[in-house]
Amino acid sequence: MANETWTDAELDASVKVYLEMLSKEKNGIPYKKSEHRKQALAGVLKGRSEGSFEFRMQNISYVLYDLGLPYIKGYKPAKNIGTNTTASILRSLERNKFIIDDNYEPTPEDDKLKQRTKQLRRKINLIVRPTGQPKPQKTETTITVYYRDPAVRAWVLEKANGKCEACGSDAPFFLPDEYPFLEVHHMIPMALGGPDTIENTIALCPNCHRRSHLSKDKESFNNEIYKKVSRLKK
Ligand SMILES: [Zn+2]
Ligand SMILES: [Zn+2]
Repeated sequence: MANETWTDAELDASVKVYLEMLSKEKNGIPYKKSEHRKQALAGVLKGRSEGSFEFRMQNISYVLYDLGLPYIKGYKPAKNIGTNTTASILRSLERNKFIIDDNYEPTPEDDKLKQRTKQLRRKINLIVRPTGQPKPQKTETTITVYYRDPAVRAWVLEKANGKCEACGSDAPFFLPDEYPFLEVHHMIPMALGGPDTIENTIALCPNCHRRSHLSKDKESFNNEIYKKVSRLKK
């Protein structure tokens, strides 16, 4: 019984009583751990032993301690090894609205998403698996699209002949229509006034394409492309 996985309801009850005690402690209100325990074990946690309740409190301390948050000093942080308890406790703390960090909020905006990802990468704990969004919320946006010239695309792709014009590698895979997969990229983006002409477009493998847009060295990388492909005009 003692090793049986705790249900969400049991964890929520444990987290709730823990947060009550933590709040009292923070506000200087005297409380008795034994009384809180007795109350909890008479409710949802009926059937759990005093020992496993105490250990669960220590697990909660561990999760808070690990996040750099205040915890009840009387419950020495103890990691529950070999189970997903840490993750479950964290989710319960989130359900109880105890952990609030804007960076955890899902967003439809790409730059916000990337910014939040960057912040969270610094503190993410791999033991704690994110619950994710089983049913992601959606929204609609207005986007500007350009009329693209199919002849320009066809010419550039045929000219490339299945090889990336930047690195010379073969296209990474074939499409269902048997054409090698390359991406047609505008050296000067159309959004910045670049023309849709063969003098401004190039066929790239996905790696070089991303590199040309995102990399730290994109400026020198793009200059190399201009040097390599003589039809391109700045
Ligand atoms: Zn390439
Ligand atoms: Zn591009």
